[in-house]
Amino acid sequence: MRKPLIAGNWKLNKTITQAEELAAALVAGLKDVSATEIIIAPTFTALNRVAAIIGDAPIQLAAQNCYPQESGAFTGELSPLMLKDAGCGAVIIGHSERRQLLAEDDQLINAKVKKTLESGLLAILCVGETLAERECDEMLEVLSAQIKGGLADLSAEQMANLVIAYEPVWAIGTGKTATDEQAQEAHSFIRGLVQGLFDPATAQSCRILYGGSVKPDNVDGLMAQDDIDGALVGGASLTAEDFCRIVKFEKK
Ligand code: PEP
Repeated sequence: MRKPLIAGNWKLNKTITQAEELAAALVAGLKDVSATEIIIAPTFTALNRVAAIIGDAPIQLAAQNCYPQESGAFTGELSPLMLKDAGCGAVIIGHSERRQLLAEDDQLINAKVKKTLESGLLAILCVGETLAERECDEMLEVLSAQIKGGLADLSAEQMANLVIAYEPVWAIGTGKTATDEQAQEAHSFIRGLVQGLFDPATAQSCRILYGGSVKPDNVDGLMAQDDIDGALVGGASLTAEDFCRIVKFEKK
């Protein structure tokens, strides 16, 4: 059985004080949730303070990025170990905004995945096609390259600490969600790729999240799909009421 996981990506939003306020509201609203795993990813500057607010509430902290080195002359970067030290249990890797705006490629993303796993953190690997790629019927090819590139050289054992987030780029921050069927089709394809790279048991236990304009009013339908194991939420993770409702999705 795959435990549902709802993760909030706060992106470049909120001052430290605002982050603390949101974290406190989430702790209050989600303190009794145990059936679903919860992750929030504030900005780097807020991590440590948000960790203190979370305390032993059932919410895990994630970073939005990392650098694939432990230490050294890498100005402006942070290692997974530093993020662990700040209270993180997970790292989001390969978000489409970083792929597009910062030209991150699958090789760099794979190095980040490996370093994150080596450091004992959960890796959340993001993949997804652009609208142009979908319209040119390149979606499966793109997903296949991103999954194979991102998971290169990993063992089946390491996959136990990795979650995949399928985020069609055309649905991120646009208000356009993939339909339940479109999302299910992509998730089932991705699970098949994981099976081909590893084995059926690894594919069956691998959690695949959907991301792209997930909101309180569409989460229930998405979560009812066989291969959708959770959500990576951007905009709607910035308000406690919406995020709490998403975490408490209703089983159909
Ligand atoms: C995201 O940034 O990962 C995301 C899915 O954003 P939104 O929910 O705002 O589309």
